[in-house]
Amino acid sequence: MSMQRALLSDGIRLGRLAGIEINLSPSFLPLALLLVVGLDPIAGGLLAAILLAVLLASSIVAHELGHALTARAFGIRTRAITLHLLGGVAKIEGEPRRPAHEILIAAAGPAVSLLLAAIFFGLTWLTALVAGPWQGAFLYLSVANLILAAFNLLPGLPLDGGRILRGILWARSQDRRGATISAARGGEIIAYLIFALAFLRLIDPTGGLVAAFFPALMAWFLLGAARAEKARAELSGRPSGQTRPGLAELLELARRTRPVEVVVSRASRPRSTIDPEREVIRYPDGRELYIERPRRSHPGHDRR
Ligand SMILES: [Zn+2]
Repeated sequence: MSMQRALLSDGIRLGRLAGIEINLSPSFLPLALLLVVGLDPIAGGLLAAILLAVLLASSIVAHELGHALTARAFGIRTRAITLHLLGGVAKIEGEPRRPAHEILIAAAGPAVSLLLAAIFFGLTWLTALVAGPWQGAFLYLSVANLILAAFNLLPGLPLDGGRILRGILWARSQDRRGATISAARGGEIIAYLIFALAFLRLIDPTGGLVAAFFPALMAWFLLGAARAEKARAELSGRPSGQTRPGLAELLELARRTRPVEVVVSRASRPRSTIDPEREVIRYPDGRELYIERPRRSHPGHDRR
């Protein structure tokens, strides 16, 4: 996950907006360069292309501010909004307490993007009578905001649509953990579909390596984030109504991981902190039960 962290790192601080830090990750710079170069023909000049890129970046910040200000209305702080290679992220600290809050916080970003799409479309229409590149530029911004809203509404974590889906499932089942796991599965499926799209662009004669790069990167990023959400939910405790695993459940876990070396720890860490084969049970009171598979000590004894 360190690549993901590098992608989303805070980088340069641009300033504060409504009390929230606005940052520019170093990974945003290649995107900015691509945007300016790509927008040059639409804008009709370098300076106008830079202005257009700034307006587009501002649209992304506005989307994230939608999330952040809605979260604030429900008492949840946002540490920062960061622009990065794949768009923007609002670093919201804390989890919504109710499904309705989750849905509204998630929906606020795409709602802002849709509003901006409508405003820029209006400007396209208004500038139709004026000569110059304005009309094309406003149409571009309108479509870009529309795409931003539509893409983010895809129903899988970590996308906004995935958060809305989690909110709906959570409201139905009253089990946020289960809802998270389902919504994260949606995210995995979306990531695989985007991988497939990247592959199609790769083999398409009008596409190629460059055309496939961004979708592939996006898919890889989404897959990592969806898996992280799922893993975090799976470790985050028991479904509601069940405070600790019963004996049958423990025995089942033991059976699956046999031969077993059980380490019960009271606030003490296990000997090794990185072990992909370890299974953990975390009690609500903070105690953790680790069930570890022993190191492969018998040569030739391969359990996979
Ligand atoms: Zn969003």
